[in-house]
Parts: sequence; C-alpha cells; structure tokens
Amino acid sequence: SDEVYPMTTISKSHKLNAVCYDIRGPVLAEANRMEEDGQRILKLNIGNPAPFGFNAPDEIVQDIIHNLPNAEGYCESKGLFSARKAVMQHCQQLGIDNVEMNDIYMGNGVSELIVLTMQALLNNGDELLIPSPDYPLWTAAVKLAGGNAVHYRCDEENGWFPDIEDMAAKITPRTRGILLINPNNPTGAVYSKELLEQVIELARQHDLILYSDEIYDKILYDEARHIPTASLADDIFIVTFNGLSKSYRLAGIRSGWMILSGAKHKATNYIEGIDMLASMRLCANVPAQHGVQTALGGFQSINNLIVDGGRLYDQRELAWQKLQAIPGVSCVKPQGAIYLFPRLDPEIYPIEDDEAFVLELLQQEKILLVQGSAFNLSDTQHVRIVFLPHQEVLGDAVDRFAAFLERYRNR
Ligand code: PLP
Repeated sequence: SDEVYPMTTISKSHKLNAVCYDIRGPVLAEANRMEEDGQRILKLNIGNPAPFGFNAPDEIVQDIIHNLPNAEGYCESKGLFSARKAVMQHCQQLGIDNVEMNDIYMGNGVSELIVLTMQALLNNGDELLIPSPDYPLWTAAVKLAGGNAVHYRCDEENGWFPDIEDMAAKITPRTRGILLINPNNPTGAVYSKELLEQVIELARQHDLILYSDEIYDKILYDEARHIPTASLADDIFIVTFNGLSKSYRLAGIRSGWMILSGAKHKATNYIEGIDMLASMRLCANVPAQHGVQTALGGFQSINNLIVDGGRLYDQRELAWQKLQAIPGVSCVKPQGAIYLFPRLDPEIYPIEDDEAFVLELLQQEKILLVQGSAFNLSDTQHVRIVFLPHQEVLGDAVDRFAAFLERYRNR
C-alpha cells in the first residue's frame, strides 16, 4: 500500500524495505562512534586483508601504476581485452570448458556483478536458493531485485556442508537458481566433488542456473582442494564469480569478474539482459583491470600464506585453538577463506538477541565481531571472527572474548 509521508520527509524507496546488509550495520556505526570518541577498536568484522598488513603482490600494483596513463578512457563494457583474455586462459587451466572472451565480464568487485546478475534475472517473487548462513550481499541483491531469497540449511554437524535434502525440498516452480559459496563465507567449508555433483544433479533435473561464488578459491588449508563447480558440468548454465579482493589482497581496487559457462544457448535472453546492464554502467574501473593479467599469470604469493608456517595458516590455528579451549564454544575448523564461525552453546550462553550480544562485546572489550544472524542464520548462537590480525593481536582478541564470555556466563 502507498504510505503517505509528511511533506518534509525524503524517504527511501520501497524496493529497499526488505534489503539488509548487517556486516556494515548498526553495530559498526557504534564502533565508528566510539572511535570518534578516541577509543581504539579492534575491527574483526570485515574480510579486508590490506589493513592487517597483507599487502598485494608488488608486481600487480606496479602493473596498475605503469598502465595508469593508458587508463583514462572507458573500455568495452565487458572489460579490457587483456583482463578477459587472462581470465579465459585461467578457465582453461581450471577445466572450465568452452569459455570465450564474450562469456567473461569484469566488474567493480564481485559485488557489482552479484547485483547486476540478480537485477537481470529476477521478476517479482522469483526465488533463488541461498545458503544459510550466507554472505549476505546475495540475499540483499535478490531482495533488491524483487526476488525471494530462499535459504537452504548448511549443516554444522556435517562440516557446514549444504543439506541436499533441504535444498531439494525448497525447490518450487518459482525457483530460478541455486547459489553455492565455495569456499564458504562465513563457515570456511570447502565442498567435495560428491556434494557439488549432487547440487549439479538438482540443477539439471529442475533446469536451474547455478551461481558459484568462488572468491576464496585460492585460500585453502590442510588437505582442502577447491573444485570449480563449472569444471564438473557443461550441460547446465553456470555463472562463476571471482576477483582480486581476497587471494591478491586488493579489495580496495574493486576488481572482480564473472564467467558464463555450460548451457549458454538456453540463456541467450538472460545474457541479453546482463549485457544491457553491463552497458548501462559503461564499464568497470579500468586501472584495476590492468592488474588482472599479472595477478592470474604471476607469482601466486597467497600460497606462502596458507601453508603451515604461513601467516594465514598460523593465525587460523592460533585463533581456532584458543576458541576451542573456551568452555561452551565449538568451532568447525575452516578449510578455506579467512573467517571463524564459532557456536556458543545455548545452555551456557543463552543469547536472545545476537546483535545486542556483539554490541555488548564491543562496548566492554572494544572488539567488533559480526553476529550470526547477519548471515541469514536463524539461530542466534554464532559470531563471525576475521582471523586477519597478527598472532599477538588476534590471540589477545580471543582472550578478551573469552573474558567477556566468562562474565556473560556468570551473570
Ligand atoms: N563474495 C563473497 C563470498 C565475499 O566474501 C565477498 C567479500 O567479502 C564478496 C563476494 C565481494 O567481493 P568484492 O570485493 O569482489 O566485491
């Protein structure tokens, strides 16, 4: 119904009513206010590697600087030839077949492409199957486009793997596609070939699009191996997302891409819509695109960070062990990405409102985490912790979290 606003109110559009992105929500606003008051806050809320001293490979930065004088104009709306050519060759290495230049789109980060693909796809009431917990931009983008985000359960008891039965049960005549986030944010799960094949089979049976957000594909620990969804099927339409923000520590550069593969012939009309929206935003940031070829073809320095003795590996190990040692806290050990997603036993820590919980933690210990419900999880017993700080700072943060929990438990 049309609401009537007083003449003086400038209001947001109704399209935003159901949209929420709580990673940068009210608790962050309070943290910023505390910082303005001169308090020092440890922000473990956002997966932003550079501020924690994870510098980008210098050769990429130098390439961008070197090409800056050539980057003054717009480029083609799908992106620079060199960048798309590099992604195309990378697809060949990954075993994603039949990808041509025209199937690759560069974006201002994966974020822009998520919004763009959802805007191009969804009619009001169309559904996308999204993991719970999820990276909430996906849910927000679906709702912004007028769609319904239908969340399938990921099973903590089973290493946070998607519950295929739940996924299957939630398919309706309005379902258009299934989203996989692999490696997963926030859980750190890395999916097996068997699991991926089960999802592919569902998509095949119900003629659904598969969206595969693989932005953490190179951040893997222990024995984890990442399998690109699109390398397993060429008879369904698959859209794969990746970018420079995480593996190359260049989140501020805003560069990502998407790859259309598989049954493209079934999606020609949808692809027309994608092309239209890609044209409307003219093109993605051109200087950033100059770094893509060097990133994909250069020295993969991320590999040194994720092995035993490497910074990410050691920080994950430290924070995970310390968390596990807190009474009533359990955490599935992440096999990929840069987050821990511990569970707080409701018998010991009954949390009604997890946003209020992280707000209290912020106020008392000056540590900013994100509550589980911000990831479209229905329970309120989880928080997400970014394990990017150096061991000393990270260890201290978990100790302070433990001290907070001890008071919480005893009150
Ligand atoms: N997808 C996932 C799963 C993410 O975690 C993020 C950022 O945290 C993004 C996409 C967005 O990345 P970008 O910086 O490329 O916009």
